[in-house]
Amino acid sequence: MSSAPTPTDPTPADSDETPAFADLGLRPELLGALAALGYEEPTPIQREAIPPLLAGRDLLGQAATGTGKTAAFALPLLHRMPEERTGGDPVSLVLVPTRELAVQVSEAFHRYGKDLGARVLPIYGGQPIGRQLRALDAGVDVVVATPGRALDHIARGTLRLGALATVVLDEADEMLDMGFAEDIEAILEHAPARRQTVLFSATMPARIDGLARQHLTDPVRIQIERERTVAGEAPRVRQSAYIVARAHKPAALGRVLDVESPTAAIVFCRSREEVDRLTETMNGRGYRAEALHGGMSQEQRDRVMGRLRAGTADLLVATDVAARGLDVEQLTHVVNYDVPSAPESYVHRIGRVGRAGREGVAITLAEPREHRMLKTIERVTGQRMTVDKIPTVADLRTRRLELTQAALRESLLEDDLEPFRAIVESLTDEFDMMEVALAAVKLAHEATLPGSADEEEIPQVAVRPPRETRPGYDRRGDGRARPGGTTQVFIGLGRRAGVRPQDLVGAITGETRVGGRDIGSIEIADRFSLVEVPSALADEVIRGLRGSTIKGRKATVRMDRDGGGGDGRRERPVDAARRDRR
Ligand code: AMP
Repeated sequence: MSSAPTPTDPTPADSDETPAFADLGLRPELLGALAALGYEEPTPIQREAIPPLLAGRDLLGQAATGTGKTAAFALPLLHRMPEERTGGDPVSLVLVPTRELAVQVSEAFHRYGKDLGARVLPIYGGQPIGRQLRALDAGVDVVVATPGRALDHIARGTLRLGALATVVLDEADEMLDMGFAEDIEAILEHAPARRQTVLFSATMPARIDGLARQHLTDPVRIQIERERTVAGEAPRVRQSAYIVARAHKPAALGRVLDVESPTAAIVFCRSREEVDRLTETMNGRGYRAEALHGGMSQEQRDRVMGRLRAGTADLLVATDVAARGLDVEQLTHVVNYDVPSAPESYVHRIGRVGRAGREGVAITLAEPREHRMLKTIERVTGQRMTVDKIPTVADLRTRRLELTQAALRESLLEDDLEPFRAIVESLTDEFDMMEVALAAVKLAHEATLPGSADEEEIPQVAVRPPRETRPGYDRRGDGRARPGGTTQVFIGLGRRAGVRPQDLVGAITGETRVGGRDIGSIEIADRFSLVEVPSALADEVIRGLRGSTIKGRKATVRMDRDGGGGDGRRERPVDAARRDRR
């Protein structure tokens, strides 16, 4: 094989277009952490947000989950942390709407800041307060908190904001939707007036604008959801997406590939680490997968490309950087193992197929929380992406039989069956012709099956319609719900606390104007409950329950956020409970 680079392979010139993390001026400790994580280049929001944040500017960013926004604010905050920290009060406070996000964001801070020795603490309702008190007492640099619990600590004097240099409001629209507006105001009042304030929100309704106008000073504005149509540029490609929980992604990828049976496919991952891990997993599952990423030498890459072109590999697992400029004739499918961090990168990725009039397929595996990003991509490409159900085991079997049938038909049309005539003739002395044919088909079919057939059902994730089409959605954004709809209220106590439906009904009817007949479905899981109430009364129910106890205990009470619609940061609690029970 010639090792001379072909004009269509990735060229170094391509990689020069985007600034590297080092060009953004980040501290070496952070660059080291990013390299170890396998992040090859900043995402668009990181490119735009990091320099002004390093310079101490306020920032108003419109960006959804999946764009890399956490690192966009975490890296500058860590960079700006004083070298020698002696004080115990936090220098950064990040407010987030849910405890899941609090955990996720503080894990991100921890990962990026470990070489700086950053002390990061998530605080949220539902967790024993004692542990939080001890950690706060020992001294922290970054606190990632839900507004309610942060305010509790401020009131107790255990969270002191005097040393704060930066406050971040992450997913501000969600926080307002969940009724945290007053808590946020109260928290900001306790923060020093001279501070950096950063606000990220997936949408920019008037209320967010108001919040920004009041609390941000001359902010840099960044919008990652660009309403730009590049339909003309995008090739005609069949585009579909599957919503799948992270844990089931490798199985889902295998299932989709089996059903699609691509000639050759490229699977895009976000980091080198994920490329290596997925390549190994897919090889273990019987696919012929090759990794391609920026950490490989040109010679290694050429070898991989050679194997793909020669057909000895059929799956290329790659990062964006490595796959830039790639043109492989055999490619029929592009798979986004994660939703790409920017719609532009989606467009580039799917440009690898459907070239020169060839038919192409683009498949995106999205986690429930990334659902919103799909809509953004649709807007940018101006093309529909259908959300399909992950093929079931039965779908897979049907598809495999179809493939066997197609292979047999092809074989029948070819003229090379003579050598086998003697076998059939001798067998038909003994058996019926139909039975002989059935046995032959069975053998042919079984020969195509992978050694370790993956025959487990992959759980379907229910995605509810977008919030604005759901009953009870506050379309006017003025905090008053539409009459007629119902809303689910989340109560952080469940079966383990001995909660029964009558306890919930009792607490609600005792504390509010809501009558027993107004209460809809009640679901009690191990650790929480969901109660459906008229939307118009939801706020009252939440206030009432927050002010009272259930089974002698105080509970977290809030509007339920589900696994779809919003950005669905978490799966529906009911689904989680079902999963937990499995
Ligand atoms: P976020 O939008 O902050 O929820 O981030 C989405 C995902 O992208 C997270 O899993 C991050 O670890 C990952 N990520 C963020 N920045 C980068 C980057 N520059 N390269 C690769 N992965 C990234």
